[in-house]
Amino acid sequence: MTDTPQETLANLLTETRRFDPPPALAATANVTAEAYEQASADRLGFWEQAARRLHWGTDWEQTLDWTNPPFAKWFIGGKLNVAYNCLDRHVEAGNGDRVAIYWEGEPAGDERVVTYAELLTEVKKAANALTDLGVVAGDRVAIYLPMIPEAAVAMLACARIGATHNVVFGGFSVDALSGRINDATAKVVITADGGYRRGKPSALKPTVDESVALAPSVEKVLVVRRTGEDVAWTDKDVWWHDAVGGASEDHEAQDFDAEHPLFILYTSGTTAKPKGILHTTGGYLTQASYTHHAVFDLKPESDVYWCTADIGWVTGHSYIVYGPLSNGATQVMYEGTPDTPHRGRFWEIVEKYKVTLLYTAPTAIRTFAKWGDDIPAKFDLSSLRILGSVGEPINPEAWIWYRDNIGSGKTPIVDTWWQTETGAMMISPLPGVTSTKPGSAQRPLPGIAADVVDDEGNSVPNGGGGYLVLREPWPSMLRTIWGDDQRFIDTYWSKFDAMYFAGDGAKRDDDGDIWLLGRVDDVMLVSGHNISTTEVESALVSHPKVAESAVVGATDPITGQGIVAFVILRGSVEPDDGLTTELRNHVAAKLGPIAKPRQIMLVPELPKTRSGKIMRRLLRDVAEHRSLGDVTTLQDSAVMDLISQGMDKGKPED
Ligand code: ATP
Ligand code: MG
Repeated sequence: MTDTPQETLANLLTETRRFDPPPALAATANVTAEAYEQASADRLGFWEQAARRLHWGTDWEQTLDWTNPPFAKWFIGGKLNVAYNCLDRHVEAGNGDRVAIYWEGEPAGDERVVTYAELLTEVKKAANALTDLGVVAGDRVAIYLPMIPEAAVAMLACARIGATHNVVFGGFSVDALSGRINDATAKVVITADGGYRRGKPSALKPTVDESVALAPSVEKVLVVRRTGEDVAWTDKDVWWHDAVGGASEDHEAQDFDAEHPLFILYTSGTTAKPKGILHTTGGYLTQASYTHHAVFDLKPESDVYWCTADIGWVTGHSYIVYGPLSNGATQVMYEGTPDTPHRGRFWEIVEKYKVTLLYTAPTAIRTFAKWGDDIPAKFDLSSLRILGSVGEPINPEAWIWYRDNIGSGKTPIVDTWWQTETGAMMISPLPGVTSTKPGSAQRPLPGIAADVVDDEGNSVPNGGGGYLVLREPWPSMLRTIWGDDQRFIDTYWSKFDAMYFAGDGAKRDDDGDIWLLGRVDDVMLVSGHNISTTEVESALVSHPKVAESAVVGATDPITGQGIVAFVILRGSVEPDDGLTTELRNHVAAKLGPIAKPRQIMLVPELPKTRSGKIMRRLLRDVAEHRSLGDVTTLQDSAVMDLISQGMDKGKPED
């Protein structure tokens, strides 16, 4: 710990555990250490080579145009079809019988196996159906579906005809859905009667009906029958099984410009009002495809990959649909929740399909740890060879739990840092190259120029903390915020000159590896020290009784801000009188007295976005006894009542 009061972000946590790649994996890895050298010698040449993994109808003339920053263009003049790259070319190569999707519905026994040839046929029919409904290239189509194969079919059908999709997570309300449909002025909405959640049908169509009534741009609503429950019907509605079922199976994919808009997607809304992030075609697919191949070391002939994200988030776009399918992967897609009908459902699915590559989020990992080690222990998880994490910083102890209990103490873990805005992974270990460190995303991927800088925009030395920035454009970068170029400039490009600022804090350890430290908006200023939420949370989670925690800085008359920690205990732990003191001392022992929480609140749940990320700004409101800010992206509003009541009863400790 340093005593310089003006450091940008303190570096308090030291982690010394290291895990080398398994030798067999390193020997056959898709990407080796050479890639870093190639990319640093010739960054654009490196990305050209990655782009050559795809099929281009017309070659590009120029790799990057960065003459008008921050508006980048990649692969200028190139033309390609995204759906052709994800489907037709695999079938043409003789792999039509390969399974693309093992779909597992939430109700037991509800399953479908979809080959590449079958998926291609469905996408061609859906492309014809959308064309018949009047959709042309450049139109926007909103997609509001459960996790069923039709969600991937709908996205690929849009891509095939050059329509720009706007997927909205199926758990969102009328306000969120109608707002996103209107912002994108979507012409068609694709939805379903409903899906299954927590053991029962959960309707979607009523939310669409109300939203469409508020959205004058919508001409048609295409409805998949999933649950079979009764639905109200309007004259805009068309059944998917009529329109797609009756459509022709012939459809030739036409190529689109590399900079043609592929999709708009709204961020998850952890910090503020969601932003409509625009991604285009050639650069996006290049990086989504390359990173999936490199970071998961995907062997399409033998691997079974499973990403547990919802298609409504960017992870579902890049690592369920575009990355894996462009690489010809076989993957599992699951409709439901991890605890239906029992808390071992995920592990039962891994065992059933012999999943080899698993990609999930820290929020899920901490929940599994809370539920207990005995649950995954009942299943055969020996097929797993690489585990991935995304969405939030992963606490070192959660990382170790994941490796030991899910990865049999053997599998590499790839902690992948990226954002809706970056479109694809940016910082991550490579499983056959990197000696991994629990809790660190480690190194920018080949071709990515990430850095950690201080307030003046200068790189911090090893051991220092600051702001995570990107110094060079990358192929899958957002092109703008839909309809709001000025907000694009203001939000990402105005803090530092000629650098993209991601909003996250980070530090560089003594080896130069990067550790994400949470959002800079959440940083706590305690007695002149800028302390990251992540380090204090990780210290709390390293206590054997703690499953999950969130910390915030609350105004304090003496120290500026005081650290208030909200803690969820592991399932079997009964709190006793001394526990909060014990936890406060534990943090002080790990990080130094400066980071000792002023107050610890034991809570049953934490406020999270619908993608499972902790919303610290709401906890800050509670800790400072303010009325709550915007709660529209909150998963469960009852949680806040429980926490506020507890807060009113609790009192600060000495
Ligand atoms: P909003 O921008 O509206 O507040 P959001 O940032 O939660 O929403 P996403 O694009 O889904 O929306 O999330 C990206 C953010 O998630 C990153 O900026 C970072 O804070 C966090 N994140 C993602 N992966 C990691 C990771 N591996 N380690 C640390 N943080 C991560
Ligand atoms: Mg964000």
